[in-house]
Amino acid sequence: MNYPKIWLSSPHMGGTELNYIHEAFDTNWIAPVGANITGFEHDLEKYLSKDVFVTALNSATAAIHLGLILLDVKAGDVVICQSMTFSASANPILYQGATPVFIDSELETWNLCPIALEAAIVDCIYKGQSPKAIITVHLYGVPYKIDEIRAIANKYNIPILEDSAEALGSSYKGQKCGTFGDISVFSFNGNKIITTSAGGAIVTFNQKLKKKVEFLASQSKDEAPHYQHSETGYNYQISNICAGIGRGQMKVLDEHIVLRRAMHDFYVTLFDNIPGITVFSTTSHDYFANYWLTSILINPSETKNGIDRETIRLTLLDSNIESRPLWKPMHLQPLFEKYPFYGNKIAETLFENGLSLPSGSNLTDSDRDRIGTVLLKLLS
Ligand SMILES: *Cc1c(COP(=O)(O)O)cnc(C)c1O
Repeated sequence: MNYPKIWLSSPHMGGTELNYIHEAFDTNWIAPVGANITGFEHDLEKYLSKDVFVTALNSATAAIHLGLILLDVKAGDVVICQSMTFSASANPILYQGATPVFIDSELETWNLCPIALEAAIVDCIYKGQSPKAIITVHLYGVPYKIDEIRAIANKYNIPILEDSAEALGSSYKGQKCGTFGDISVFSFNGNKIITTSAGGAIVTFNQKLKKKVEFLASQSKDEAPHYQHSETGYNYQISNICAGIGRGQMKVLDEHIVLRRAMHDFYVTLFDNIPGITVFSTTSHDYFANYWLTSILINPSETKNGIDRETIRLTLLDSNIESRPLWKPMHLQPLFEKYPFYGNKIAETLFENGLSLPSGSNLTDSDRDRIGTVLLKLLS
């Protein structure tokens, strides 16, 4: 079996990225400052088409950490976080010495359950500690219940830190994800819809906050001829080389979204008449998903021979095709299981029965043939 590996989501260059890297070499801006960084930030601001300020950083994890600092999260504070997510959403809470409180998902968007969220907030307040922030996530590029979550946040006067790492290009009621939080973040890691190899960005809503981000991300240097510091600093700047990749990738972002959405359509058609398989899809026209990853839910009581998630995953792997269980909820992780959790078993059940399938914008007709053949042979 000599078939090449089919990846879940691999980097997809557009062709102009190297031009920007050459420019950086030609001008000798091989540094965490330079025209590619300001250019990339400008491209993102324009793309989000709202009055926002974008600062490119070296990861979304760094962006979430700085976001928590901007929201004044300190040791002993409580921060609410969607449980079903990548650990990078929650780890920065621990960096700050704060306590995470995890919230279950709802079935429509797989994101924050408004009912469990409000129950958690009420309980935290009752116990004498209003949460300092709510970390929301658009899982797999599907927007969360924006209006309901915002209404709850406003009712209790708690800011939202929007983890839009998976949702560049997604929108809700015509407004782009990454503009709904009091602070928002994006990731440009190698597996995301566009990549800078490694990188991220933080979105803020005024110039003053952007300046503060730049200050913190570059070691918190006070104004002085020598190096003078009165606050803890961080080294979270992006490289001008990586930002050059980002500038090239911005030219193909919309194309990548069309292609990822076409992968989603491919799976919807493929599983149309297959019992026990549901393709995770948006349920109303208010939601526009970039479908960063297409995921399915498997109901083994309805599939042929009771086939389950692991059987599908291992069968694909046998044909050198990568797939991956959904994010294991944080409240079930050894690192986080001692922290409070509000909700039921929605996230847990999604994790048990969900599988993300190859979704890259660079997949070919022959890749789709291979994937389709393996899945249909197994399941129909
Ligand atoms: C990828 C991802 C991150 C982390 O992004 P990095 O740029 O790798 O730090 C954070 N949150 C979510 C939901 C992600 O998918």
